[in-house]
Amino acid sequence: MDCCGKTIASRSRYAQLVPPTCYLPRGHTGKCDQYPYLKHLADIAPHLAKKIRRDATMTTGAAWASSDAGPNRILRWVILQGDEQLREFGINIESLSPIIQAKLRDKAASYEDCMGVARRLTWSAYGVPGAPRPPDHVRTPLEAEFGPIVSGSTVCLICRSPFDFDDYAKAKRGKAVIETAHAAPRRHDTANVGFAHRACNIAQGDKTLDEFYEWIRKILRNVEAGRGHP
Ligand SMILES: [Zn+2]
Ligand SMILES: [Zn+2]
Repeated sequence: MDCCGKTIASRSRYAQLVPPTCYLPRGHTGKCDQYPYLKHLADIAPHLAKKIRRDATMTTGAAWASSDAGPNRILRWVILQGDEQLREFGINIESLSPIIQAKLRDKAASYEDCMGVARRLTWSAYGVPGAPRPPDHVRTPLEAEFGPIVSGSTVCLICRSPFDFDDYAKAKRGKAVIETAHAAPRRHDTANVGFAHRACNIAQGDKTLDEFYEWIRKILRNVEAGRGHP
């Protein structure tokens, strides 16, 4: 789609690094909007719309939530900035352990890639059984970019089992049942993201999907060969 692309005024201090831009069609009427395709979901499933925005643009990092372990959540494109610039934003990357530094840098992605991921996840959400039908102004640009929205075509990126639209709102022990997942964990772009069961995402860890399936094959071969106990 040919986008308007105008800069949207923002009070975020990060907006001076990469100003948010409008993703409505060029020549649109009305106000510019960074996430026009999320408006419908924001009305009917606000929790999911928020999750898509957050997962597309922010690093995860519950495991590093302590002050000496680095920032918990940070915009992915901010990490692409130099260490000097990061310091101006209160992130002293050199003070973090090498492991945390590497983890942070693994999550870096450009603004354009993050916006693409948000569109891709929105398209995927509408393909889950039980999802509402998107209005045409949402459906048309998403289908032009990613193909037809077909109910049931979205399955867990990892185990390929279906889930239900209601699952997005479910949590177990305070953790969402459905998470955003990456076929290759270090690539945050449209070709590489989808939704997955939290349990599957944890099992995949930092392996690519191919590595993960090969790992499972090896386990099953060992089990089937009757190795070890019992
Ligand atoms: Zn605009
Ligand atoms: Zn799964």
